[in-house]
Amino acid sequence: MGMKGTDLIKLDVKDLIKQLNKAIADEWFAYYQYWIGAKVVVGPLRSAAVAELTQHAADELRHAGLIADRIIQLGGTPLLNPKDFDKYSTCGFLEPTDPKVKAIIKQGVTGERCAIEVYNNLLTLTKDKDLVTYEMLLLILKDEIEHEADFMALLEDLAAI
Ligand code: MG
Ligand code: FE
Ligand code: FE
Repeated sequence: MGMKGTDLIKLDVKDLIKQLNKAIADEWFAYYQYWIGAKVVVGPLRSAAVAELTQHAADELRHAGLIADRIIQLGGTPLLNPKDFDKYSTCGFLEPTDPKVKAIIKQGVTGERCAIEVYNNLLTLTKDKDLVTYEMLLLILKDEIEHEADFMALLEDLAAI
């Protein structure tokens, strides 16, 4: 029996699930990037950077959870194996080989800008076609925009030292 909730969707649901799985790969990479960044970061404003990275890591993991739940609602399967993250990810993983605050936070800005682009594209895809996914993506986009602004503010503070 079909599901009324998915019959409403005026999109190729299989493709939508694939796009959402790509977003899960990006979110997990972002989560780990900030989680490990918070561990290794050194230099001025270190504690402010740790606080921001830790908070953003938690947000990215929450985003992955929201997206996984929506994929399941749509009748799909969230990525089961982290080995697939690299293949699916749009934004990739930025390894924090330079542990200085400035370098780590700059990588964060790059990642957030990529995420903003990804979610903006997904919003265009789902607008007027899948309201429930659209609303979820809009909430995530708002967080990513806030993340970018937070990281930029930290870079400004750093430049003012
Ligand atoms: Mg923040
Ligand atoms: Fe996110
Ligand atoms: Fe983010």
